Amino acid sequence: MKSFRYHQPTEIIFGTGKVQDAGEIVKKYGDRCLVVTTPAIEATKPMYDRVIQILKDAGVAVAHYDQVIPNPTTEVSAAGAKLALEHKADVILGLGGGSSMDAAKAIAVEASHEGSAWDYLFYKKQPTKKTLPVISVSTTSGTGSQVTQVSVITNTEERDKSALYHPLIFPAVCIVDPELMTTLPNFITAPTGFDVFCHAFESAIHPGRGAYIDLLAWEAIEHVVTYLPKVLEEPKSIEYREKMAWADTLAGLCIASAGVTLPHGMGMAIGGMYPHVAHGEALAIVYPACTRFTAISAPQEYGRMAKLMDSTLKDLSNEEAAKHAEEAIVKFLKKIGMYKKLSDVNMPENDIEALAQQCMVLPDYENNPKVATKNEMIELVKASY
Ligand code: NAD
Repeated sequence: MKSFRYHQPTEIIFGTGKVQDAGEIVKKYGDRCLVVTTPAIEATKPMYDRVIQILKDAGVAVAHYDQVIPNPTTEVSAAGAKLALEHKADVILGLGGGSSMDAAKAIAVEASHEGSAWDYLFYKKQPTKKTLPVISVSTTSGTGSQVTQVSVITNTEERDKSALYHPLIFPAVCIVDPELMTTLPNFITAPTGFDVFCHAFESAIHPGRGAYIDLLAWEAIEHVVTYLPKVLEEPKSIEYREKMAWADTLAGLCIASAGVTLPHGMGMAIGGMYPHVAHGEALAIVYPACTRFTAISAPQEYGRMAKLMDSTLKDLSNEEAAKHAEEAIVKFLKKIGMYKKLSDVNMPENDIEALAQQCMVLPDYENNPKVATKNEMIELVKASY
């Protein structure tokens, strides 16, 4: 058996209605809390008000930083950290999707250290134990950020999307309450749900995987393939939201321990250069080309995935099914309304080389079963255009 290491310090509280426990959980970490969210809209305001009231009822003094933007920036982290310091927050609660939970982690570092969160990217300075504790409450399924040591942020000036990556930013506790996800519109459920698939599948082909990750990843992949189309048909279904929230949490555990590969490296570069493109949308755009490029180098995994996505392949061996993996992915993307190209999101065609260059900045592409050369990366971007 392949050797592996697995470490997961986040306490996971999973279940419909569990957000009610947020007050007593936060109280264990401090009396003064900064709640971090995107600006309230009709769908999210009742949820934000409810969580803040739960905290207040438990005797927690609350400040609310509500200016997180999707694909949060260094400006978001700086403004949130300023408010955390003014409020003398001793715990940060990220309430929302990956953007809010990641912003909470970046704020927890920036409010307790010199400089900005960008100085603490995974290859720069190390955050210290002064980092404020983070509680995450996920409201999308999702990024898995509620259980990861990752905070993805964008530096607008440098047009660069990168990440803090450190064990000290694992949330201390996460609450995964599927009821909070029933307000999600399909245009968010579909890309975030596809992101879950990507985390699980890329972990299943990652060199850092092992028996434990295989167990979690394939459970998550099967859940997404089965339940993402169903939840898009019945967005209010608690049962389907629970299945997707479970898949999201499993996939988060996978990336915290194994990691992501070529599609995520490309997706991050797209998000950095074109912040209007949602993370899951960027992944959907590059997946067919990445699948064509990689399937032959990991036929067992690509074949198994293709057979789950396209039942007409079920009698083939994995090696044979892997030859149809790109078609299977395209079929699934069409089913969830996510089959798109870079030209559909207004990327200028003359950016192709610059984007290919940017796709090779983060190390994720090097963890792919087949590592792209510069020319191959340009071809991958062209094929996704
Ligand atoms: P998001 O957090 O950007 O949210 C998208 C939109 O959905 C926002 O406008 C938000 O207000 C809204 N929303 C959230 N919950 C809602 C609800 N219950 N009802 C109605 N609207 C709701 O989306 P996301 O895909 O969850 O997060 C994307 C970010 O996470 C990106 O920056 C991505 O790079 C990052 N990410 C982080 C990790 C990690 O491990 N930390 C992993 C993958 C992606």
